Amino acid sequence: MPDGSAYWATYEKISEYNLHLNMFERLWAAWYQFMGNDVLATGIMSFVLHELIYFGRSLPWIIIDAIPYFRKYKIQQNKIPTPEEQWRCAKMVLLSHFTVELPQIWLFHPMCKYFGMDTGVPFPTLAKMAFQIAIFFIMEDTWHYWSHRAFHWSWLYRNVHKIHHTYAAPFGLAAEYASPIEVLLLGIGTVGSPLLWCAIFSDLHILTVYIWITMRLFQAIDAHSGYEFPWSLHHFLPFWAGAEHHDVHHERFIGNYASSFRWWDYVMDTEAGPEAAKNRRERKLAKEAAAARKAQ
Ligand SMILES: [Zn+2]
Ligand SMILES: [Zn+2]
Repeated sequence: MPDGSAYWATYEKISEYNLHLNMFERLWAAWYQFMGNDVLATGIMSFVLHELIYFGRSLPWIIIDAIPYFRKYKIQQNKIPTPEEQWRCAKMVLLSHFTVELPQIWLFHPMCKYFGMDTGVPFPTLAKMAFQIAIFFIMEDTWHYWSHRAFHWSWLYRNVHKIHHTYAAPFGLAAEYASPIEVLLLGIGTVGSPLLWCAIFSDLHILTVYIWITMRLFQAIDAHSGYEFPWSLHHFLPFWAGAEHHDVHHERFIGNYASSFRWWDYVMDTEAGPEAAKNRRERKLAKEAAAARKAQ
């Protein structure tokens, strides 16, 4: 069993000969060298990262649910998830992480290597990472819109997507509460977008993918949080979806299918909620009136 001091000895050695690397890059290189097995090194790192981010990001929302002060920001005010409900959901999510996701994570490193992804040091520049992550957000959102919309077709809904709609008033932990088939298919948008990018441009670092997945997890958990604040992101970026967008989807089951942005639902006329329905009705009436005028 390897021990911690062996890791730090590796780190010291790498530091001695690689003065051009920053501390984070040295820690990274030492991890791969210390493990001596890249599949295992990437696998463990990916799984731990996912668990830490998923439950770490859900925790503030659990606390907020317990503080009455925040009630005024709750979108569906009379539906506060009980601690029992949250605990049950956490257990189910954890079970699926260990049974369904863990085996798949071992395929991640071979897939990255197959598509020529860089796992070494030095890291890419911040500007390059930011640009690629912005592209992944757009790609994932498009995939998510169409596949999520397909999940609402009767057979697929009844047999697969219904599980995710158990909670009509969602909360952070419920972001990944879904059938394994759904997790796999929607996950293609999150994991497949960077792989596709890498296959086409042969220029991607796995760290960029980790930062992207972290941001995508924040997006998904926050969208399920059930809270809308005056400082929520969509007030500053009007095309950002956020909780206000996805909460209505859970409440009404129809419309608002996209994940990160509002443009697909806008363009395809699938926006949900009373405001959108009113606009749709007005547009329909105007169209009918125009047609009647033309007929006269
Ligand atoms: Zn849905
Ligand atoms: Zn949802």
